[in-house]
Amino acid sequence: MESITVGSFTISEVEDGVGHLPPMFYPGADFESQPHLLHEDGTYHIRGGGYVIQGQDAVVLIDAGAGPDDVPFPNEVANAAGLAAPPKNIMNSGLLPASLAELGIKPESVTHIVLTHLHIDHIGWVAPKGERLFFPNAEIYYGDADWTPLIANVPSDDPARLVMEFAREHGVLHPMSESLVEIVPGVRAIHTPGHTPGSYIVAVGSETDHVLLTGDVIEHPDQLSQQGIHFLTDGDREQAAATRSDLISKISASGSPIATAHIPAPVFRRVGKNGDWEPAV
Ligand SMILES: [Zn+2]
Ligand SMILES: [Zn+2]
Repeated sequence: MESITVGSFTISEVEDGVGHLPPMFYPGADFESQPHLLHEDGTYHIRGGGYVIQGQDAVVLIDAGAGPDDVPFPNEVANAAGLAAPPKNIMNSGLLPASLAELGIKPESVTHIVLTHLHIDHIGWVAPKGERLFFPNAEIYYGDADWTPLIANVPSDDPARLVMEFAREHGVLHPMSESLVEIVPGVRAIHTPGHTPGSYIVAVGSETDHVLLTGDVIEHPDQLSQQGIHFLTDGDREQAAATRSDLISKISASGSPIATAHIPAPVFRRVGKNGDWEPAV
């Protein structure tokens, strides 16, 4: 697992599992000319999990993985994608506690959690199956605009709803609606709507020297140069594209390292002088 330092902070990747997404999840992306991106099972393998920021007497988790259970590959997705032999699971998960333990971090040591948005693969370990708070001492921040579409307006047994309603009942949630929210000094959440209305990215470090944890704003490496590539679950495709384009302009100008939620290694990357991705560590 990769890590990077910025100022007095260390940011480490924490793995929860691997997702297996067919090309149809990336409308506009050309996988045919880049067959190396696809595995033998016909899917693009993405990372699932989050990041942990250590420093300033805080342990801040950014996103909380999919939770303890694997997510089976839906038949309708296999049919729509034309996969005769799809992988068993669309998302393998369950590794987050072990990944934190490898870093010497116990669940009770986590002081803050920022959920970049409320899709289930980012919140699962907050309250697995809606039964208990996995991080008993953590104050949890999320974008308020996600609540109605992704929690209140979904079936009562929806996994994301079970997780978030349990957390709300236990008084640990801090809904964010401002454009910028300081979580602890040096860790700021910035509203970046589009993928979901309540999406936030997280900046770690100072105004001029920082690393950005960008959630699902960028999903495919070619989105750096091709604005016509989208992601199937982008809630508002036009707004997502505008937010992505704005973020890419900023990181191209600043050279700041970023880490997306899902794009495979290198985990920490930056836009180099030639305009392509380069590893940041
Ligand atoms: Zn998402
Ligand atoms: Zn995601």
